[in-house]
Amino acid sequence: MSPAYEVLTYKNASVRERSLEVDAGEITTKEFQDYLDKLIITMHAEDGIGIASPQVGINKRVFIAHIKHQDIAFINPKIVKTSEATVETEEGCLSVPHVYGIVTRPKRVTITALDRHGRKMEFDLKNTEAVIVQHENDHLDGVLFVDKMTEVTKGTYPITN
Ligand SMILES: [Zn+2]
Repeated sequence: MSPAYEVLTYKNASVRERSLEVDAGEITTKEFQDYLDKLIITMHAEDGIGIASPQVGINKRVFIAHIKHQDIAFINPKIVKTSEATVETEEGCLSVPHVYGIVTRPKRVTITALDRHGRKMEFDLKNTEAVIVQHENDHLDGVLFVDKMTEVTKGTYPITN
């Protein structure tokens, strides 16, 4: 087994598809646990702070985010509350290489999900951590940061090649 998945770019259809809910009964299987570990390995191999499953061609509603100094698996996540206050952040994405830009998003979010043991978890996050989970959650609906970007800070977009 290779140590990491290949990260797909925006050119791959799976990155633009809406991903499907995970069956909770599947979470504790060895196969699923191995898949979560492999997602985490891939995120680190690519120096990412988050990675969403469709970015490796698996259209499940799963992402990994490095928050609270840990790599946390979010399974079937839902953003249940967002603040009116917004924050502008420079974002980039493993699936949109060499492009960075400004995205405005809610400054605070409450997100629920199942953890890697299938238990319900809930986080209140703000600023960078809130942005990471919103960016990753968007991937599960086939949405990329460039769709919301108001200003390009590095690279060129629209991408011409
Ligand atoms: Zn991304």
